[in-house]
Amino acid sequence: MTRLDSAIRRLTAQRDLLDWASGIVAPTGFVLELGLGNGRTYDHLRNRLPGREIYVFERRPAAHPSCLPPEGYLVVGDVFETLPAFMADRDARRRCALIHADIGSGDEHLNREVALRLSPLLDQLLQPGGLLLADRGFELPHCADITAETGIAQGRYYVYRRE
Ligand code: SAM
Repeated sequence: MTRLDSAIRRLTAQRDLLDWASGIVAPTGFVLELGLGNGRTYDHLRNRLPGREIYVFERRPAAHPSCLPPEGYLVVGDVFETLPAFMADRDARRRCALIHADIGSGDEHLNREVALRLSPLLDQLLQPGGLLLADRGFELPHCADITAETGIAQGRYYVYRRE
């Protein structure tokens, strides 16, 4: 498989899961996008969840202006600082219906470290039944790994549901 094939498979899985989650997400609860990047997945999420408030976390916003969240919904800074502050300010503990985490880089060692550090935060943020879609595996003691239920091949993308 070429790197192009691999990128297409990953993006297809990402889009399919965003569509899947948009269809079943609870009608109330925060929606968080971790990693704005080019704004592609944010654009998809806001299209699939019209009217829903989506908070986006990004340390270096550089997306196309058409893919920037409205005022008040882009949280700039390192998620390890901004997420705990968001949780406290918005009383967001156990109130997130959907989190999409796509903050990985090409450094797999660093990605693993980030996932392990982020896991307890995401575990606390998700409400019962809340969904986490992620570009890598997380260690979430109160969540079930339901990737297999979604039809996405193991290891391509990761899906968790808070118990
Ligand atoms: N989902 C995006 C899209 O579809 O365009 C791509 C996201 S890109 C793979 C990852 C993004 O996460 C980068 O823009 C990077 O700056 C951001 N990021 C990585 N680590 C971060 C951190 N600790 N805090 C905030 N943002 C971070």
